[in-house]
Amino acid sequence: MSGVSLLLVEDDLELAGLLDRVLTDEGYQVSHAPDGQRGLHLALTRGFEVMVVDRGLPAVEGLDLIGRLRGRGVATPMLVLSARGTTQDRVDGLDAGAEDYLSKPFELTELLARLRALLRRHPDRTESLVIPGGQLDLSTRTVRRASGDQVELSEREARLLALLAARPGAVFSRGELLDRVFDAAESETVVDTYVHYCRRKLGRGVITTVRGLGYRLGAL
Ligand code: CA
Repeated sequence: MSGVSLLLVEDDLELAGLLDRVLTDEGYQVSHAPDGQRGLHLALTRGFEVMVVDRGLPAVEGLDLIGRLRGRGVATPMLVLSARGTTQDRVDGLDAGAEDYLSKPFELTELLARLRALLRRHPDRTESLVIPGGQLDLSTRTVRRASGDQVELSEREARLLALLAARPGAVFSRGELLDRVFDAAESETVVDTYVHYCRRKLGRGVITTVRGLGYRLGAL
């Protein structure tokens, strides 16, 4: 189970610190967001294999955060932590798109066991990246759209999108894309050709042309 990337969204910094230590000891690569807005940003700009989300969060509330991520095609398994533990709260959490729900206070051993169970149910611990309208799975080179449809990409299309998605706000010149995705001996027009292919498969908005500079990922 070592090396599983985990995003912890928790505003209780004392609890977050404790969970960070315990989860890191268990071999998870933990990233922490102290509010829902930063959790949303991290989840949309980096691929995580599992998420632990507190329900009561400042900026963007936990279930709202999960609903927004699911709406953008993020399929990462998520476990909700909540100070409230009624049946209706659990139902709300599961309906919002979470896979599991744990009421505070909880035993750390139970959280760890639930995370292991969650990862067993989602064994495809693949590298995935968020792109406009869906999630790019690099191991299968498919894009799962928010609608549930899957779109297959060629190796070059997937590498081009993965490079852009790794730094969603950054503009890449055609020369840089040629160098990093294609064969430097080819003409820069090969970049334009593959941008065209990606747009044809995934919609015009997937890659934005920045006139005179190059390309960047479309708006997330
Ligand atoms: Ca809280």
